[in-house]
Amino acid sequence: MPGADYSADYDVAVIGGGPAGYAAAIAAAQAGLRAACIERRESLGGTCLNVGCIPSKTLLHWSARYREMAEGAPAHGITVGEVSLDLAAAMAGKDRVVAQLASGVAHLFAKNKVERIAGRARLAGRGAVTVTDNEGRAREIRARNVVIATGSEPAALSGVAIDERRVVSSAGALALPRVPKTLAVIGGGYIGLELGSVWSRFGAEVTVIEYLDRLAAGMDSELADRLRRALARQGVAFRLATRVAGADIRGDGVALSLAPAGSGGAAGGETLTAEIALVAVGRRPCADGLGIEEAGVALDERGFVMVDERYRTTAEGIYAIGDVIPGPMLAHKATAEARALADILAGGHGSVNYGAIPAVVYTEPEAASVGRTEDELKAAGTPYRKGTVPLAGNSRAKTIGQTAGFVKILSEKRSDRLLGVHILAPGAGALIAEAALALEFGASAEDMARTCHAHPTLNESLMEAASLAAFGNALHA
Ligand code: FAD
Repeated sequence: MPGADYSADYDVAVIGGGPAGYAAAIAAAQAGLRAACIERRESLGGTCLNVGCIPSKTLLHWSARYREMAEGAPAHGITVGEVSLDLAAAMAGKDRVVAQLASGVAHLFAKNKVERIAGRARLAGRGAVTVTDNEGRAREIRARNVVIATGSEPAALSGVAIDERRVVSSAGALALPRVPKTLAVIGGGYIGLELGSVWSRFGAEVTVIEYLDRLAAGMDSELADRLRRALARQGVAFRLATRVAGADIRGDGVALSLAPAGSGGAAGGETLTAEIALVAVGRRPCADGLGIEEAGVALDERGFVMVDERYRTTAEGIYAIGDVIPGPMLAHKATAEARALADILAGGHGSVNYGAIPAVVYTEPEAASVGRTEDELKAAGTPYRKGTVPLAGNSRAKTIGQTAGFVKILSEKRSDRLLGVHILAPGAGALIAEAALALEFGASAEDMARTCHAHPTLNESLMEAASLAAFGNALHA
């Protein structure tokens, strides 16, 4: 092993047991390094497993099934009697999934000989970390390399204090004790849209309030607009270009003062009252209490740990990955960095292709993107070709009665190289994998158009959109 130092307890000590940290520890151990993972939470898996991806996707799945069962499919001969919801059982089901997956990570640690250290970590000088357990007992561990993978936490909104009763964070919205009659979601990013969808399907009247004049900032604006229209048809109300200036918790709900976006100071006199308000205005990196400054680890102006292309921070022997460094705050981006870093620490050349990281909003239909958005190409003046096909022309979409959506393929005008793929469709989160692979391989739109796709599948729409981009025609468009 390069540069082995046998006076250290570990080759790698990872702080944080989320998708960045646990994956880095396992990958490092699989590469032959002695690895430890320090986590302050009782269960492993970080935000993603405990209060993020997994509980939200469980509730999204079962709330969609609930709605589907309640509506039946009379046009296809299926009518149903009364369908009821036992929310406590739904929450218990979600908690079981979380617990099973968290114990799965613990099992993987044991299998790969990763040492799990329970407690709160603090950097304590070159190659040293102090870990304080729940009883306040501190111990020092020594490691040749230390990885900061401490993730992120919900961003606060000035004037709107979270009490996790009337005004909740995403974690609170994943564990509401009953279906609220009305839910105000502050923030139209993917977390707000997903959790808004869950509670809307369970029967709440949901209003999403967004500061920008569009949803899902950063996603292709045509995709975001079509998603908004699809959700509006499901009964979700939207207040775009609107600022929430304050929240007043009253006995039976919360009154939000609204103002037009861009207006300063107090609100414009309009109030929106809801039983529960969810604050989902983004997430901020979490490096608090780590002793970052004393350790010489520099943060950028937004509080992210600064790293170079090999994930080295400004302090020797200290690395950082996941939500705590700049880039999309997504679990698969965190895990990709973990694998790359483990490779680097083991003497290899790991890297992440940041141009091919998919992003998905798990609503129904799902919205998924990879690569460049059309807005970015326009802003950069990049000549491009575009193939867009509506899902209405896809036979599989017709068979399942879900034709709201489209596929858009963007390719470089001269070379035909794929630049971006944007999909609004049922299961778009899975469909986008084909596009991510194509981008990773540097494929052209023609490559995708000439690849034989199984029939009848929704993926055929990718082939058709690619054909439109490459040749200007498609069989069914
Ligand atoms: P985290 O998962 O935040 O893990 C960091 C860990 O470090 C935490 O467990 C924390 O307790 C621990 N820690 C922090 N400081 C210390 C310390 N000093 N000592 C010891 N331990 C410490 N992403 C997706 O890709 N797909 C999704 O569908 C998705 N859905 C989401 C839904 C919601 C509601 C939320 C909130 C997030 C969602 N995300 C999703 C984002 C995803 O959860 C994060 O991108 C991912 O968890 C980041 O991984 P991480 O390991 O960098 O950080």
